[in-house]
Amino acid sequence: MDEKKKAAPADLPAAQENAPPGPETSDPEASDTAEKKAAPAGRITLRLTRGDRRLLLLLGGGALLCMLVQTIILGHSPGSMVEITVGGKLVQTVSLSTDRTIQLTGVGGGTNTLVIKNGKADMTEADCPDQICVKHRAVSKKGESIVCLPHQIVVTVTGGEAAEVDAGTQ
Ligand SMILES: [Zn+2]
Repeated sequence: MDEKKKAAPADLPAAQENAPPGPETSDPEASDTAEKKAAPAGRITLRLTRGDRRLLLLLGGGALLCMLVQTIILGHSPGSMVEITVGGKLVQTVSLSTDRTIQLTGVGGGTNTLVIKNGKADMTEADCPDQICVKHRAVSKKGESIVCLPHQIVVTVTGGEAAEVDAGTQ
């Protein structure tokens, strides 16, 4: 009796340890049949795991898609900032979201008036001889620019973070 009682607990863990590697190490068909024969709880757990994987894939794919769409939209959307350079030096970075009129002094003392309105930057006045910058249409999209060659003023729309830089310039 004593020997059997001692043997029983010792045998059970050993049997449990030996049991799982059996079907797992064998070929997939054997494990499939083992799953079918196994308790329903085991199959439910397996299904949940598969569902989780699908969910993760969906979430991951969705997030990736969102990033892609965002990148595409941002690439085609109006820029948020305007960089103004005079003589090749950055003199001002302003937000397109705040309407304002900026008086610029170009190289050689010429003046230009840049108007930011409705998310667009437009050179409305200039005392340059060619008036090309004034004739140039308003810019609003990232990468667009207005150039006043005689005054060496370049106004370029960029997509930088508007709020922080804008707060610094004002
Ligand atoms: Zn000009």
